Amino acid sequence: MSWDFETEPEFQKELDWVDQFVREEVEPLDYVLGHPYDVRDPKRNALVRPLQAEVKKRKLWACHLGPELGGQGYGQVKLALMNEILGRSRFAPTVFGCQAPDSGNAEILAHYGTPEQKKRFLEPLLDNQIVSAFSMTEPQGGADPKVFTTKAELKGDQWVINGMKWFSSNAHLASFLIVMAVTDPDAPPYKRMSMFIVPTDTPGVKILRNLAVGMHEQEGSHAFIRYEDVHVPKDHMLGPRGGAFVVAQTRLGGGRIHHAMRTIGQVRAAFDMMCERALSRTTQGSLLADKQMVQEKIADSWIEIEQFRLLVLRTAWKVDRYKDYLKVRKDIAAVKAIMPKVFHDVAARALHLHGSLGATGEMPFVEQVIQSFHMGLADGPTEVHKITLARQVLREYKGTADLFPTRHIPKLREAAIRKYAGQIEREVSMQS
Ligand SMILES: Cc1cc2nc3c(=O)[nH]c(=O)nc-3n(C[C@H](O)[C@H](O)[C@H](O)COP(=O)(O)OP(=O)(O)OC[C@H]3O[C@@H](n4cnc5c(N)ncnc54)[C@H](O)[C@@H]3O)c2cc1C
Repeated sequence: MSWDFETEPEFQKELDWVDQFVREEVEPLDYVLGHPYDVRDPKRNALVRPLQAEVKKRKLWACHLGPELGGQGYGQVKLALMNEILGRSRFAPTVFGCQAPDSGNAEILAHYGTPEQKKRFLEPLLDNQIVSAFSMTEPQGGADPKVFTTKAELKGDQWVINGMKWFSSNAHLASFLIVMAVTDPDAPPYKRMSMFIVPTDTPGVKILRNLAVGMHEQEGSHAFIRYEDVHVPKDHMLGPRGGAFVVAQTRLGGGRIHHAMRTIGQVRAAFDMMCERALSRTTQGSLLADKQMVQEKIADSWIEIEQFRLLVLRTAWKVDRYKDYLKVRKDIAAVKAIMPKVFHDVAARALHLHGSLGATGEMPFVEQVIQSFHMGLADGPTEVHKITLARQVLREYKGTADLFPTRHIPKLREAAIRKYAGQIEREVSMQS
């Protein structure tokens, strides 16, 4: 029987170190540096590289990976406990070597890459010498990959890619893109596409513009890309031909739960600020904390965060237990569906309780509310995950051919009377 909510004391020591290190050394970077992924920025490297070295020395680098790839093989529960600290800071995932989308891209390279692909792309990626992008969504729609039209045709010993991709995050900083393209248009819908590794400097890769989310990004980092007669060698296919969906799922399963872990950190930060404000601001003769409507916001937020966190941790536990993302599809879909709502609702309450100040860029809430929409869209919109969840749940049930439901009370009563009629009659006759 194991049903335990405690952290091992040894690992708690590591978490305490991470907490202090992030607070003192990493969070300040968020206010002085530009893009965490800009490995070409000497200012960023001067500050980030020594911190990464400290993390490596402490053996906390790339904890999502197994020892064969330079991680600790800690598993998802430990990673969740770490990520909820790292989620507080823009730079922390990079300092700890577990930033998205590189973490997911590394996962698929490790899983499907050939030895040459691993040497050329995975090794420098794991060391954060380079960064990568994932180029799947197209301008005509992201929620339904069946509408994607970007194609790759084999000409001689080269694949030639043509098409448009939308919202390929960090493509302008990336050394390579992982691109999903139609290779077998006549195959069944989920076997039509394959994955390719495309170095960003390949002729024909054209970033048309970089889109910015909300108002906080100074320059956009989500690329609208045209692939125009992009030639890559035959061996740049990643995974099997027609296997893009399977490869993508390997990446997205982990990616979604990792986003959720980091979101806990963000939501808790908003909640902490909300509580501090409630205990600091006086209006109409008493603290905000003494007003029942404020208390309700605090109570609702606490409950929602705790429910969300437990769901994330249990899902992480299931990933460790089953080592198969397909077996936790339902749980991951549930986590993905609830994440934007909890994030949005808590950040919006925190914003509101800070009054006018909360609505400005001097506090993080506006950005957090926008980020909650990011969490509701990236890796698929909430509706799609709710559909997945409902379908998975319904597989565990079956309908009845009867006119009335199985739990129809008259039917149950009739069955109970039939079951116990003899005993009840005996009891009655003994008493009379
Ligand atoms: C910040 C951010 C970063 C991103 N990074 C990347 C990246 O690195 N690489 C990449 O390839 N993509 C990326 N994306 C794109 C993301 O995957 C897509 O936005 C997402 O899949 C939705 O596609 P779409 O934007 O085209 O919306 P659409 O597919 O047009 O959907 C729009 C809306 O329609 C509704 N809807 C869709 N399907 C259904 C349904 N079945 N039932 C009911 N309602 C539905 C939902 O409300 C949905 O939000 C990113 C997105 C954001 C916001």
